[in-house]
Amino acid sequence: MSHILKVALDTPLRRLFDYLPPLQSTVEPAVGARVRVPFGRQRLVGVITGTAADSDLPLTRLKPVLQVLDTTPVVDPALQGLLAWASEYYHHPLGEVLASALPRALRLGVAAAEREERWLLTEAGSLAAAAGEPRRATKQRALLAYLHAQGEASATALAERFGAWREAARALMSRGWIASAEVELQRPAAPAAAVRTPGPALLPEQAEAVAAITASLDRFGAFVLHGITGSGKTEVYLRVIEQVLRAGRRALVLVPEIGLTPQLLARFRERFEAPMAALHSGLTEQERLAAWRDAFSGRARIVVGTRSAVFAPLPEPGVIVVDEEHDSSFKQHEGGFRYSARDLAVMRARLAAVPVVLGSATPALETLHNVSTGRYARLELSRRAAQAQPPTLKLIDLRNHATRGGLATPAVLAIERHLAEEGQVLVFLNRRGYAPTLLCTACGWIAPCRECDARLTVHLGAGRLRCHHCGADLPLPERCPQCGFAVKAVGQGTERVEETLGALFPAAAIARLDRDVVRRPQEAEGVMRRMSSGEARILVGTQMVTKGHDFPNVTLVIVLNADQGLFSTDFRAPERLAQTIVQVAGRAGRGSRAGEVLIQTEFPDHPLLTQLLADGYDGFARIALEERAEAAWPPFSRLAALRDSARSGEAALAFLAEARGLARHTPFGVRLLGPVPAAMHKRAGRYHAQLLIESRERRPLHAFLDDWLPQVEQLKSARAVRWSLDVDPIELF
Ligand code: ADP
Ligand code: ZN
Ligand code: ZN
Repeated sequence: MSHILKVALDTPLRRLFDYLPPLQSTVEPAVGARVRVPFGRQRLVGVITGTAADSDLPLTRLKPVLQVLDTTPVVDPALQGLLAWASEYYHHPLGEVLASALPRALRLGVAAAEREERWLLTEAGSLAAAAGEPRRATKQRALLAYLHAQGEASATALAERFGAWREAARALMSRGWIASAEVELQRPAAPAAAVRTPGPALLPEQAEAVAAITASLDRFGAFVLHGITGSGKTEVYLRVIEQVLRAGRRALVLVPEIGLTPQLLARFRERFEAPMAALHSGLTEQERLAAWRDAFSGRARIVVGTRSAVFAPLPEPGVIVVDEEHDSSFKQHEGGFRYSARDLAVMRARLAAVPVVLGSATPALETLHNVSTGRYARLELSRRAAQAQPPTLKLIDLRNHATRGGLATPAVLAIERHLAEEGQVLVFLNRRGYAPTLLCTACGWIAPCRECDARLTVHLGAGRLRCHHCGADLPLPERCPQCGFAVKAVGQGTERVEETLGALFPAAAIARLDRDVVRRPQEAEGVMRRMSSGEARILVGTQMVTKGHDFPNVTLVIVLNADQGLFSTDFRAPERLAQTIVQVAGRAGRGSRAGEVLIQTEFPDHPLLTQLLADGYDGFARIALEERAEAAWPPFSRLAALRDSARSGEAALAFLAEARGLARHTPFGVRLLGPVPAAMHKRAGRYHAQLLIESRERRPLHAFLDDWLPQVEQLKSARAVRWSLDVDPIELF
């Protein structure tokens, strides 16, 4: 007899907790169901992950569960398998992993199924109603008569019919004539999914891709759908999903964290007559719970969401799609549980025995490596779907040209020409604000952030100086606090470029897209509309403009400064730069006119740029992968980073040094590098450092971590710092 319940609780402890079944309960405690349990002086909500015959603790010391919260497991076995795998792979406690998979409301114990308050008649009430009681209270009589006629009614229905009805209901209840109950909401069964508007005839490459993916709808397969923006990847997803829906299954679609969800959803809605659920960071807790419930109940046939939606419940999945799979927002790199939603999507598909589609114009080098080792299959869309030609890319040598507000003369002339030809222009600069530096030309003072090793950014419109690393926000001084001389904003941010363009092209309406203009993803819609309607002629923006939006009339793209990515300590910087350039270039010429892309740089001979221009992303990727192989960086090795932060630089380094000291006997092939202070040592008032763990193979690395981490956790110095482990880190500093 298995009498012990193994419960995962949202605590940093790397273990499960044993409880006895509830003393009295009508609900059988099932694996995957939530329970409320006593934990010290607290009451916590946890998830039953299994049962056992006995416990390490004497039975007398075990406490019973207080309450079983679910009749149906909130985490089905398939999802539980994924979460257990994630807990092991990312070396993070299962309780916290489970917690991150559930909306907050559910972690607090709210019902998983939607409930509804229903009112019904008692037997006495029936008799009273038949007798036309109560004679003197009109509203009560009407309410009673209504319930008599209907049998029962929901609170919502009563409110609709009677307006303020609760007082009357209370009076009737006190006479024992009516009663209420909370019941699980019975939604009408989801209509069979149907195609609303059929898509265009597929191009041969699209048809091949759809055929390849749907040939294996009931087994695992990882497909890399590689095609430039506009090549028809989304159309391929739609066709695959169509077949999945037809087979009575469901689709999970992951998109980057940047306000694309509404656009993609709109396209899905246009195509399919099927309930959908959207899970993204712009939702309120209420909306998130509602979307989760739609997914959980199986009502939603398509679930679209950002990173954490990889954990969305999805009965009978049929396909998982990761759009823009290279996007760094799929990596959770904050908090304790750091995971890659892209990699988890692949694992989820494997566990569910369904295909996963990784779409991108610029697949991650890891993904391309998985293609060359045969783990993933590559499907290529080499041409643009709607008649459109690929853009031409050219460099502008900043050393040879005068600039005005960061714009070199050839760029200004090109803008003029494209505007005159009725085209739209996109100007990309990966820096928001007015200027990155506030300088005193008399004494050389530069506005620093007190909490970070960083400069404060000038936000002229707001009249503020802001730190983009810690959020510090100060009034913008007019004079140097050191010598009293006037200060000057140096360098360019999107706000200033907008101003410069306004002065150069007063007749053209300019739109801006960055996190200062658009604080919530939904707000991007307005900016998009100004561009797609043609009202705005120039769009200036940060990374946000590089993603997914379709502006068919953009014929010119200008990359203001490509050089930040060329010389970085992070071995991934060139990959990110190449992806950004290709992505932003993909915005040009999506309509019938060919586009032009101009990239401003001071290093026009840099091999990365010349390679990218000569051979495109594929050529770049080939060279970049060779370099990675030579240097033994991922994907030719495996990395984990132990990171920490502390009030002093010494403390931050001391903990990591001690942790390193514990690793005297590393397995063969595992190397520790560091500890070193982070490139930005001080950030938000804390000092950051990191210790890298590197290994050629995955297995020894994980064996080492299994053995080492529990010891690291026990270190006294661990309590003086905030630390986290990042497996497969994508940003190194
Ligand atoms: P991607 O997702 O690769 O950017 P989309 O699927 O959005 O590409 O396709 C780009 C544009 O081409 C869209 O406007 C889409 O409707 C259109 N399109 C896609 N496939 C076809 C096709 N087979 N025939 C005609 N138009 C197509
Ligand atoms: Zn000064
Ligand atoms: Zn700061």
